[in-house]
Amino acid sequence: MVIMDGIKVSDIIKEEIKEDIIENNIEPSLTVIQVGDNPASNVYIKNKEKACIKVGIKFNLLKFLDITEDELIKKINELNNDNNVNGIIVQLPLPDNFDTNKVVNTISPMKDVDGLTSTNVGNLVLGNDALVSCTPLGIIKLLKYYNINLESKKVTIIGRSNLVGKPLVNLLLKENASVSICHSKTTNIKDYTLNSDIVIVAVGKAKFLKEDYIKENTIVIDVGINKVNDKICGDVDFDLVSNKASYITPVPKGVGPMTIAMLLNNVLKAYRMQNEN
Ligand code: NAP
Repeated sequence: MVIMDGIKVSDIIKEEIKEDIIENNIEPSLTVIQVGDNPASNVYIKNKEKACIKVGIKFNLLKFLDITEDELIKKINELNNDNNVNGIIVQLPLPDNFDTNKVVNTISPMKDVDGLTSTNVGNLVLGNDALVSCTPLGIIKLLKYYNINLESKKVTIIGRSNLVGKPLVNLLLKENASVSICHSKTTNIKDYTLNSDIVIVAVGKAKFLKEDYIKENTIVIDVGINKVNDKICGDVDFDLVSNKASYITPVPKGVGPMTIAMLLNNVLKAYRMQNEN
């Protein structure tokens, strides 16, 4: 059994991005907009900032404790028109009184480094070039690093969120995998997972996937980040499942670091889309 090392692979990608930025003497920039003071968001944003600075991406945080939706949309439009800003992220979740869809779709698709605007999602589905959601992109990169050929593989994804499950289906189809997607209304998830070469879990429930869900030598990707007794654990019961899997990602140090690396990748891509046409 191989434990897939998200730290090692993401470090290689980050080093390539850093070298690219130095060699070309460019300074891509990312602006994160935060509304409120959600403690988890504060940690995620800090991690993004550290990663950006390390590779030479300029990082800017705009934090608003008190802002209306109209003011936020006006701010995003200003950033859309600012040539010094290459990537824009609205940190989610927004407070309940905001229309997330409307706010996210205000971001210019050329600067949408989270790949969440309707334009980028549409382009992904159509197989066109797009800025794609970082976590699914990171999963594909990780599988490729370990030389896992996706063509004609049976893949089950558990979880159909806009952030993970849905974009991942399209990336896997592009790789010629056959994909099933399960969710909370799926009646017998094992019907799918026991018949799969690769199982990807993104449900947000600690140790959800047990060893009886998979056949021997399944490749298991754990997207979940759950806090249990102040410890981070995934959606996969690692101790049990790792005995049966051929490859498995740990939590932490699996998919998480790949997500950050893909964000840096997307900022650089956005910079190039805006400057090298
Ligand atoms: P989400 O938006 O809450 O979606 C969860 C999905 O899981 C939904 O599709 C839901 O089904 C499904 N689900 C929930 N309970 C289920 C059950 N009992 N059986 C089958 N399906 C079930 O979550 P998300 O944003 O995709 O995130 C999922 C997890 O990944 C979270 O732990 C999150 O923290 C983590 N995450 C990690 C990274 C990373 O970089 N490592 C990035 C993003 C997210 P319905 O659609 O039917 O409700």
